[in-house]
Parts: sequence; C-alpha cells; structure tokens
Amino acid sequence: MDEIEEQPTESAGKSRPWWMRLSVWAVVIVVSGIIIHSVFDIPSRTVFGALILGALILRVGFFFLQQFATPPPAPPDPGTLRKVKLLYRCSICGTEVRMTAANDEDPEPPRHCMDDMELVAPIME
Ligand SMILES: [Zn+2]
Repeated sequence: MDEIEEQPTESAGKSRPWWMRLSVWAVVIVVSGIIIHSVFDIPSRTVFGALILGALILRVGFFFLQQFATPPPAPPDPGTLRKVKLLYRCSICGTEVRMTAANDEDPEPPRHCMDDMELVAPIME
C-alpha cells in the first residue's frame, strides 16, 4: 500500500520525452559495452547484442510491473459527473446494480463474477 501513495511524485518523471529516455538507455549500453569489451576478451558484437537484449527484457519487465503498480485515475470533479439511470444485471449470478452517476453518457459496464455486467435497460421514470 505504501508504493501506491508514493505514485504522484512519479508523474514528473513520466513527462520526459521518449527520445531522452531512449538516449539514456543507449548511453548506458554503449558505455557498459565498451567497459565490458575492454576488460574481458569478448567480441564487441556479442557484448552489445547481450546488452541490448538485456535492456529489452528489463524494459518489458518494467512495463508489466507498471501495469500492476499504476493506481486507478483520480476521481473526477463532482460537477463533471453526468446523471444516468442504468440497470445492469450479472448474467452469472443475477445480481442487479443501478448506476446513477457516470463520467460518460455511455459508461463502461461494472464487473461482477469476474465478467462485465449486462445492461438491462435505461430506467425511464
Ligand atoms: Zn455475479
């Protein structure tokens, strides 16, 4: 739970353009490649291939970790919510839910029993 509370400070880091992050990765790969190539007797092709592959695997791993760590978006201001009257039913257990406010005219259906609920009908009153 502590990690989620620290998230707002990360938004400043995300504003950096993609080419800046890519060039940081490239500099790290080139510098460590030169060091490894000069210290050990390994062909540069092998060293750079391994470093690029390692960076790629690391980046994909971070991507999946970020998917778990990213908190849901902040709730919108009360004034931006739209009044809706929608009735949803769970097709598995039959639970019914009435939605009275949404941030969209056509909101995403809520989930129940690990599945999207079915829109029964807009409630007319
Ligand atoms: Zn259900």
